[in-house]
Amino acid sequence: MRDILPPESGRWRSFVGTFADLVEPAGYGQVIPPLLEDIGVFSRIGEATEIVQKEMYDFVDKGGRHVALRPEQTASVCRAFTQNRPPTPWKVWYAGPNFRYERPQRGRYRQFDQVGIEVLGADDPYLDVEVIALGWQFFTALGLTKVKLLLNSLGEPDDRARYVAALRGHFEARIDSLSPESRQTLATNPLRVLDSKRAQDAPAIADAPRIADFYGAEAAAHFAAVQDGLRALGIPFVIEPSLVRGLDYYRRTTFEYQGGTLDSAQNALGGGGRYDGLVEDLGGPPTPGIGFAIGLDRTLLACDDEGVFAVAAGELDVFVVDTTGGREALVLADELRAAGLRADRAYENRSMKAQMKAAGRSGAAVAVIVGTDELAAGVAVLRPLRGESREQVSVARGDLAESVKKAIR
Ligand code: AMP
Repeated sequence: MRDILPPESGRWRSFVGTFADLVEPAGYGQVIPPLLEDIGVFSRIGEATEIVQKEMYDFVDKGGRHVALRPEQTASVCRAFTQNRPPTPWKVWYAGPNFRYERPQRGRYRQFDQVGIEVLGADDPYLDVEVIALGWQFFTALGLTKVKLLLNSLGEPDDRARYVAALRGHFEARIDSLSPESRQTLATNPLRVLDSKRAQDAPAIADAPRIADFYGAEAAAHFAAVQDGLRALGIPFVIEPSLVRGLDYYRRTTFEYQGGTLDSAQNALGGGGRYDGLVEDLGGPPTPGIGFAIGLDRTLLACDDEGVFAVAAGELDVFVVDTTGGREALVLADELRAAGLRADRAYENRSMKAQMKAAGRSGAAVAVIVGTDELAAGVAVLRPLRGESREQVSVARGDLAESVKKAIR
């Protein structure tokens, strides 16, 4: 777990702001679920998943309840839907931290942030397209150009069940070639063996049966419509039959956004899919759902690698230097801020030299300087801190904010 300090924290805020500016005009409202839920909410993700088996930050609280810090937010959103029963389609977005007890490395942390959207209560392939497109447009808005969209369909639950049986047979016949981890995964969920990034598993995965051969008419039509919609919006995609995503609740459409530059194990920037059974599992009415989650930490690493979405420097407009004791700086900074300027000042009544040095370091465009003479005359000195000219002018106290605004224009 890390501290995010300024100015990097400003970049985090812009990241979430950019996301909100994209999805709110598309009809998504923000949902803010609690960080902590009953453990049962997350067990529904799938008893056989690594998240549930090994990665949960769970504990018994003082009231004897078994709770967990959320490892993701889709289950929380579905729980919130079940409890609040808003009208459908319910279109929401979220942002915030999740917790997974994983082995930390670059792009993988125990507390990590995600932004995401979920739509509950509509089963329309063109909705899948809207959702996928919004994620795609978000990466574009950040300036990323090397993201790849991978697409797959897991079919209807029946198709998926027949496929899982075929997969099990395939992997069992090659069990000696599989990694010990995959042998264990095979016993609980053969689909997840396809998720393995271990080289040892690659050959058995490469010639595994393909889900596409198991689609019934309905799943095939849905998948065709999703692809058609993506083409209509001009969004490029690659069909990736081994994309099953980690969680049990997905059916039909699944997708992943891959970064172009991170190590292969960490190059999934985000992903999602359709999960038509999750609300029901949580005690709600049968409700189709679709959404995605995009990892903030990893996406910012991808931005670093592509040299985009740089930290916006917290630029100051004006720095107040006061050698008369500091009361003037207090009042002037307050006035300048009230006039909409970004203003800072020095403290502890330091020498003129020390304060001017602080002004230079602050990155402000101009310094406002008040000494004993200026105080007596009711004026302040304006001095540019950037550019060629350092020519100072004396301005009346009453005109100060306007003069600063002119000077920084
Ligand atoms: P998931 O919820 O596992 O589908 O993950 C969705 C996205 O969240 C991933 O593509 C990552 O960008 C991000 N993510 C998941 N786990 C972590 C983690 N431990 N550290 C950083 N980012 C993560």
